[in-house]
Amino acid sequence: MTDTLHSAHSAQTPARIPIIEERLTGLPLLFDSLQLESLSTQAQKLIAQIDACLPQTQCGLCDHPDGCLPYATAIVTQHEPFNKCVPGGQPVTDALAQLLGQETLPAAPSKWKTDEISGRPVEVRAVIREADCIGCTKCIPACPVDAIVGTGKHMHTIFTDLCTGCELCLPPCPVDCIDLIEVEHSPTELERAQEQAHLRQRYHTHLDRVAEQMTNRSRAKPVVSMVEAKLGNVANQAIDIDAAEAKSTIAAAKLRTKIKKLDKQLSVRPNPAKQAERERLQAELETLLDEA
Ligand code: SF4
Ligand code: SF4
Ligand code: SF4
Repeated sequence: MTDTLHSAHSAQTPARIPIIEERLTGLPLLFDSLQLESLSTQAQKLIAQIDACLPQTQCGLCDHPDGCLPYATAIVTQHEPFNKCVPGGQPVTDALAQLLGQETLPAAPSKWKTDEISGRPVEVRAVIREADCIGCTKCIPACPVDAIVGTGKHMHTIFTDLCTGCELCLPPCPVDCIDLIEVEHSPTELERAQEQAHLRQRYHTHLDRVAEQMTNRSRAKPVVSMVEAKLGNVANQAIDIDAAEAKSTIAAAKLRTKIKKLDKQLSVRPNPAKQAERERLQAELETLLDEA
């Protein structure tokens, strides 16, 4: 995917249904549970059209952590509201309303401001502060489009052109060294459809690879095991800290992760209980840091 500063010709035009129709064949194992083959041809076609409208950020903010296709399926089979795609914003909600033949709805709010050209929440990309990266590799399996490269104990890098800005790599990072930067990205309708098809393919490739690693015991270990092994190397060889400091560092990292997750959830929907939990965790973190 290339971040291009295009003219506004795609911008102010009303959202239209993408012309690309995807067939629901050769899908990753993860999607077997959707049982798409048991649905009517008409339902399958509608799911494919909805999926083609969705940004393919695979961020899970629509309450479907396994991505856009499960959300598209739920819209058709569970009659889930069609306005839950946060990165898609109002243009995607409008396009889905048109596709479903329904009145449109206000799109789910985003913590990012609206891009004046695209009408969608402004896009972001993740960037690692490489000087702070401890090479723990935890961010790698979190990335749904394999945009992060690096090996244990070495700094990691994100291919910004491939990053969707899904933010999923932020919570696992124990040292908070991943920043988000806003980008201007206003592709034409056709370019966006092509980019989304590319991202969908990258996500499916990622899922296929993970499934293969988890099932082929003779050749590869599951991703999590490899990460754990690399983390073990980091702990044993690279980080020279005493046991108490290590314990405190890990506890602080866990608290930061929980706070980030809550921040993400609260940015989508206010929730007093989660807000109170966030404040409690923040106080706990500050106490921990004061004692360190
Ligand atoms: S991009 Fe939209 S549909 Fe896809 S996972 Fe994120 S919120 Fe859900
Ligand atoms: S690098 Fe991070 S923000 Fe970018 S796609 Fe991967 S997980 Fe998402
Ligand atoms: S999770 Fe953070 S510290 Fe670990 S490799 Fe990724 S960017 Fe570096």
